[in-house]
Amino acid sequence: MSGIAETDGRLTIGVLALQGAFDAHARVLASLGVRTVLVRKPEQVDGIEGLVIPGGESTTFLKHLERAGFFEALKAFVHAKPTFGTCAGVILMATEVVSPAQRSLQALDVTVERNAYGRQTDSRVLQAETTLAGGPLEMVYIRAPRILRTGEGVEVLAQREGSPTLVRQGHLLAATFHPELSHDTRVHQLFVDSVRTATA
Ligand code: GLN
Repeated sequence: MSGIAETDGRLTIGVLALQGAFDAHARVLASLGVRTVLVRKPEQVDGIEGLVIPGGESTTFLKHLERAGFFEALKAFVHAKPTFGTCAGVILMATEVVSPAQRSLQALDVTVERNAYGRQTDSRVLQAETTLAGGPLEMVYIRAPRILRTGEGVEVLAQREGSPTLVRQGHLLAATFHPELSHDTRVHQLFVDSVRTATA
C-alpha cells in the first residue's frame, strides 16, 4: 500500500536516533511486538507508521535536524502521523517553547518551559495518578520541561504539581517524563494501540 515492508502484520515504528535515549524506547517497543527502525535520515520517515521522539537535548536535536531537509520531513510526518514525544521530544513537538524560546515542529498545542523544575528537582522518580487503567504510574523525570499551557483538544492524562505531564492531542502523545526507563509499559502500549488504530 504505502511502500512499507509489511511482511508479518507487525507495525513498524521509528525511533528518532540522532542522539539521546533512543535505545530504551526501541527495546520497549520490541517487547510489545513492534518492528522498530532507528531513524537517522529524513527519507526513513517514509517507511514508518509511527514515530517516537526520545529525550535528550532539544537544542542538539535541532542542530542535527538542520541537515538536508530533515526538519521539514519530520514536521510533515509529525503533523500527519502518530508521534510520541518524551521530554526533549515534547519540546520539539510543541507549538511554543519558552525559557528560552526556540524553534519547534509546531504540532502539539502546548506551551512548554525547558528545565522547569530547578536544580534540586532536576531528576527524580515519582508515582502519580493517571487516567490510564491500572493505577498510579511511575514517572522518571530528567531535567524535565513543564507544560505551562494546553490548547483546546489537548487531553491531560497525568499531572505533576498541577502541570500536565502526559497529554494526548489526536494522533500526538507526549510525556514530559521517561516511560522508557520504567518497567511499566502502559504508555508505550497506548501509543502502539493508537498507531494500530491509525493504520487500520
Ligand atoms: N533539558 C532537556 C532540553 O531542554 C530535556 C531533557 C530530557 O529530554 N531528558 O532539551
